[in-house]
Amino acid sequence: IEKIQEAEANGRTAFSFEYFPPKTEEGVENLFERMDRMVAHGPNFCDITWGAGGSTADVTLDIANRMQNMVCVETMMHLTCTNMPVEKIDSALDAIKTNGIQNVLALRGDPPHGQDKFVQVAGGFSCALDLVQHIKAKYGDYFGITVAGYPEAHPEVILGEEGATEEAYSNDLAYLKRKVDAGADLIVTQLFYDTDIFLKFVNDCRQIGITCPIVPGIMPINNYKGFIRMTGFCKTKIPAEITAALDPIKDNEEAVKAYGIHLGTEMCKKILASGINTLHLYTLNMEKTALAILTNLGLIEESKLSRTLPWRPPTNVFRV
Ligand code: FAD
Repeated sequence: IEKIQEAEANGRTAFSFEYFPPKTEEGVENLFERMDRMVAHGPNFCDITWGAGGSTADVTLDIANRMQNMVCVETMMHLTCTNMPVEKIDSALDAIKTNGIQNVLALRGDPPHGQDKFVQVAGGFSCALDLVQHIKAKYGDYFGITVAGYPEAHPEVILGEEGATEEAYSNDLAYLKRKVDAGADLIVTQLFYDTDIFLKFVNDCRQIGITCPIVPGIMPINNYKGFIRMTGFCKTKIPAEITAALDPIKDNEEAVKAYGIHLGTEMCKKILASGINTLHLYTLNMEKTALAILTNLGLIEESKLSRTLPWRPPTNVFRV
């Protein structure tokens, strides 16, 4: 987190990669091969998600340990507090502390699969704010704490096509400020595809006195179905021009990927031009699109890329 703060202060561009725990051992080994190649390009940190309700706890802890101590990349572990007794949260925090991991993304979490609402465990926490306060009280300044921010407000307060009401959006921001005031050092945002919405969100955060770095969560479009699923789940607004560009090519996997690279590059360019220097890439455990975007931005050396990958980023990216 200090590295991000330093990069922001010095106007240097920083980037990070997010991964999720694969379901099989083979998947985990594949992920580490990919991660090794990606880490060679110098991300400021990488993070690993935590399955809803602690469902991936052991795998996430194991992957986080290997990332920090074998891949040797600054690691941030996600940790949710939903459906989890405090003892389990503490044992996860103790484990990563022992392994030298100093960064946590403190989250409430979504309900586990098959449940609509999250359940507060007796004596457990009800929101990410509780978890931030707990980490601060128990571990002092050992952990750098990141929290989630929602440029379009949290999906629970978004009403259909209309999005969130002004009041719900303001309440969401005020609550985000409480998470920061309680000790969070960094905000990583939910995915978005309308860059203006993100830039407005940053401005609105600054207006209410949130001063920590706000890192945009960029989810490159890798395939059409995945894009529709994720934006549906997160209730993300899809600008009309993106729908118009994707509709005619949705059955052409390569064209969708090329468009995803083009769109991701343009979004990042606009964000960097606004003075924000850090990009967080939701890789979905895939390397091509994320690396191609960073190459287009000049943040990765193309010569290094061709040595590490059996493909080259498209020189003629799809244009709308
Ligand atoms: P919170 O910050 O606690 O709250 C979510 C929303 O509820 C707030 O925005 C606010 O609208 C409302 N709210 C909650 N408490 C209060 C309060 N006291 N007062 C007023 N309003 C309140 N999920 C996983 O299971 N595993 C992961 O690894 C994971 N990683 C994520 C990473 C990022 C960057 C993001 C953006 C999300 C991630 N999620 C993950 C999803 C996340 O768990 C869900 O979005 C969840 O529904 C909310 O978690 P949160 O930490 O934002 O919750």
